[in-house]
Amino acid sequence: MTPPSLPHKADDLTTLGEQIAVDFAKAMEKRDIAGMLAARENLKILTRDIARLTVEVDAELLTHDIEVIKSRIGVLSDPDCPDIGQQFLRKMEECACTIEIDPSLKDDDVSPTARYISYAFGKTVRGFVNEIGINTYKLQDILALMDSVVHESFHSFQKNAAEALHLSPFNPDTVYIMHPEDWIHLENLCERGAYAKEGMFNALLSQHDPKARERSEFDVVSVKNFEEARDEYMDLQRALIHVALNALYKPTVVGDYSRLFLHHYQEVAIKNFAAGMSQRMLAGQSGFVFVRAESEDFYAIGNDGVGPNPFGHREIDPGFEERRKLSDKAQAKLDAVCERYNIPPLEQCITISEYKRIMARPDLKIVQNDGGYTTPMATGTVQPNVYHAPSIT
Ligand SMILES: [Zn+2]
Repeated sequence: MTPPSLPHKADDLTTLGEQIAVDFAKAMEKRDIAGMLAARENLKILTRDIARLTVEVDAELLTHDIEVIKSRIGVLSDPDCPDIGQQFLRKMEECACTIEIDPSLKDDDVSPTARYISYAFGKTVRGFVNEIGINTYKLQDILALMDSVVHESFHSFQKNAAEALHLSPFNPDTVYIMHPEDWIHLENLCERGAYAKEGMFNALLSQHDPKARERSEFDVVSVKNFEEARDEYMDLQRALIHVALNALYKPTVVGDYSRLFLHHYQEVAIKNFAAGMSQRMLAGQSGFVFVRAESEDFYAIGNDGVGPNPFGHREIDPGFEERRKLSDKAQAKLDAVCERYNIPPLEQCITISEYKRIMARPDLKIVQNDGGYTTPMATGTVQPNVYHAPSIT
């Protein structure tokens, strides 16, 4: 594949730059202030044009890199799932997740190579955007980019597979929102699943490109981690379950076990949840109904359509149902969020199956009364719930 060529406009900019330098030197020599100011103005225009050109070049480079990544993924194969690379490409088509440069990602050590955005609910409410933003400063590292595109694409596939992930505080079109305790667990499972599949793809890629093994050394699931599980279990699904169960127990800083990826993602999940609720309030929304997940809702996240479900065979492995103990910081934030938005205890919330029944039957309505609600049942009986609707002011 040939690399993209620079748009010919770059030549014009070089000529313009040289001309400005000549004009400025002449104006300086004559102490011509008006000439110097004119050169300065032209310099501003040139800077703006260069910035615009950079955006165009980055977009071209990204298009090129994504094609390279797709061609590398397309040939990946596991004995238990010979067309797994093709499955990934088909799923990309099906989920139609857009991949574009994200100008908000910075050129530093903490900014990720890429990030997945499901719902845009901040300065601009755009609803379900389903997009992967790429850090323009990391475009030159094709292996890192491939790693990130695989990981973030799995988040898009998970969103496509699990309804629970749409009952999000960032989804402006629903007043049904996952209880934050379950939201943290759902996000935790999303990361476990994405890292397990990322480790699997890196292991398969390393059979073609040995650099993928070396580069993954400090990943949440490294090539070594995945291959050890694959060799031990002699079965792709059991290997995935093993690495997904153990994912997130590595420290965020090598050697410092006081802070694990598990804690990092718990804190990110509750921080985002709080930010989402805050945005909903700012938008003047109210009448939220908090919902809890059941086993099948957690399991659904792993039905990403690329290889086996990493959370269990046919049903969820008990290890993935268990909600992990929160870090002190995440627990404190969770308590504060529940109090702030008057969120009832988890066990008092309706389940997602009850939510679906309500959605499927326009005649069933949640009736607000005295700060609680009742759900008319199909039998005509009325089931009282102890849920107290949050008062949003
Ligand atoms: Zn992730």
